[in-house]
Amino acid sequence: MTTVALKDVTKVFRDGTIAVDKLNLDVNDGEFMVLLGPSGCGKSTVLRMIAGLEEPTSGAVLLGGDLVNDLEPGDRGIAMVFQDFALYPHMTVGGNLAFPLRLAGIEPSPREERVADVASALGIGDMLGRKPSQLSGGQRQRVAMGRAIVRRPGLFLMDEPLSNLDSGLRAELRAEISGLTRELGVTTIYVTHDQAEALTMADRVAIMRKGVLQDVGTPTQVYGRPATLYVAAFLGSPRMNLLEASVYVHLDRYITLSLGDQALHLPWDDIRSRAVAHYHGERIVIGMRAEALTPVAPDAPGHVLMGRIRYLEHHGHESLAFVDIGATAVVVDQMGTPVQDVAGPRGRSRLGQVMQRLTGRGGEAEQPAAEPAGDNRASVLSDPGRHHRRPAELAVRLAPYPAVGPGHPLAVSVRMDALHFFDERGDRIDVGWR
Ligand code: ATP
Repeated sequence: MTTVALKDVTKVFRDGTIAVDKLNLDVNDGEFMVLLGPSGCGKSTVLRMIAGLEEPTSGAVLLGGDLVNDLEPGDRGIAMVFQDFALYPHMTVGGNLAFPLRLAGIEPSPREERVADVASALGIGDMLGRKPSQLSGGQRQRVAMGRAIVRRPGLFLMDEPLSNLDSGLRAELRAEISGLTRELGVTTIYVTHDQAEALTMADRVAIMRKGVLQDVGTPTQVYGRPATLYVAAFLGSPRMNLLEASVYVHLDRYITLSLGDQALHLPWDDIRSRAVAHYHGERIVIGMRAEALTPVAPDAPGHVLMGRIRYLEHHGHESLAFVDIGATAVVVDQMGTPVQDVAGPRGRSRLGQVMQRLTGRGGEAEQPAAEPAGDNRASVLSDPGRHHRRPAELAVRLAPYPAVGPGHPLAVSVRMDALHFFDERGDRIDVGWR
């Protein structure tokens, strides 16, 4: 068992790409840490530096408290499982599982015992005589896991090990992997771009964007109190509603959060009101998850926003209504650059811009052109004349196949204690506790 510590770790590739930028991360003994982020954010590079397959440009990698920057991969006590789990095709399952033990010089009798134990733990005990070509994708992945486990490593590194499997099998193996690693008590670092995988499997999640660590915490912490606008937008389905709001303080009474045509009022005795009050006369971003919004009668008491349904999405167990409330949305694209920040040829593909103009939506999934890593967050709200502004479509959960449809008015009650506040740089406005 082991701990992992990354101290100011940076990786700049030969072509100048800053894949990882001053990363500081501690992984506890026996912890299941998930590195989460979109494609290209640097997750695999972090894993490869821990494994010794990539050399950090600067910074220190410590395993069990020891500096290992100069230690060969084979001497680090690590087992890796990749997306492309390459098994030896000419060897049986038993042969594949036994291979690392043979290399380590373990005698045949204890070797067979360990192989049998691992195979039975993974539910592949009756397949030891088969070749990989005679296995399903899920079974092959179990063998790959088994081959990693059988060496009893101090640390597991897993790079999107389930991404080639269908969704049913993924969910099944997800539970198996987290169960097994916890049972073995092995420290595990698991890379994925799938937030569902991260939130269901992790003890803690580290969220990266463009080589920079954005937030680390338990799934409840990063989901419930995201440190940045990017993390807020990245986690959760449907995505968090992010609205531009102007702040007006009515001292000792309440704070008006103007959303355009309508306003919400944050009571003065709300624990967050002092922090938000600093932004008097300025604009901030308000985040509302769908679970903070409940459809109500138009004359219901409390904090109610009125809107009109633009369109509905039916998901079987529920429907989502997208409601126009006359507010302005702040759109954070997949790579985390707020749309207002990337408007123009530098950040948005031509197709994205055209789609945006034609449809008024749909361009947000476009990935911006490669930019250097680092703290490149410009204001998400400044210069309103230049940046793209989009009418907000508030995602609200409704019963499956509701009686209402596009064009219908909808009143929505807002749970004020479930709102998130971010400043124009995308940092959380809060009182600092978690
Ligand atoms: P994915 O989920 O797609 O695997 P990732 O988050 O794991 O992505 P990395 O593979 O770590 O991302 O890559 C981070 C950045 O470094 C990317 O911009 C990638 O193009 C770049 N990169 C990776 N390897 C090299 C290399 N050998 N030379 C130059 N750039 C590289």
